[in-house]
Amino acid sequence: MAKSPEKAVFLDRDGVINDLIYDPKEGTVGTPLRTRDLRVFDYAGTTIKSLQDLGYKVILISNQPGVAKRQLTYREFLKMQKKIQQELKGAKLDAEYYCMHHPSALILKYKKNCDCRKPKPGLFFMAAKDLKIDLERSYYIGDSLVDVKAGHAAGVKTILIAHITDFLTRIIESEKAEPDYVIPSLKDAPKLIESLAKASD
Ligand SMILES: [Mg+2]
Ligand SMILES: [Zn+2]
Repeated sequence: MAKSPEKAVFLDRDGVINDLIYDPKEGTVGTPLRTRDLRVFDYAGTTIKSLQDLGYKVILISNQPGVAKRQLTYREFLKMQKKIQQELKGAKLDAEYYCMHHPSALILKYKKNCDCRKPKPGLFFMAAKDLKIDLERSYYIGDSLVDVKAGHAAGVKTILIAHITDFLTRIIESEKAEPDYVIPSLKDAPKLIESLAKASD
């Protein structure tokens, strides 16, 4: 079988392209559920462009069970998707793949144990098929260990956005989800990927 010609950098959404929402009353961080709470990182667009300039397709892979759990409407979800696209400063994602399912969804059509909810790799396989991506030469950048696990299952290299602490190191060990690389911010990704590409030449 012919090798797939394209390579990709897959990106998680929340915590990677846009900021998480901190709830001081609950002491929790989570997904923005309203357009007005959505803050796209100012470097997201330029970083996506840099990655594309390096020869990678840039593809969003995200679990978004909020609609399924009735935390927001599908209409609001689409509005947020549009706002993200608008705030990428002229950059354009090559594709976006979302898992809208949840095993305990309140809306029946989203209630299932699907193959696309991360840490399962279904969305990666879908994207690889649609866009002829060679997963072995591709990366997944995320901010949680679920992303690392999904990347491993998909056969891509994993990049975790994090600040390494003793606490995180212990969780990585107990979860058996060791990322291939760790960077402090999405904006550090192009330099890393460029130097890795050079090293493998
Ligand atoms: Mg995330
Ligand atoms: Zn799914």
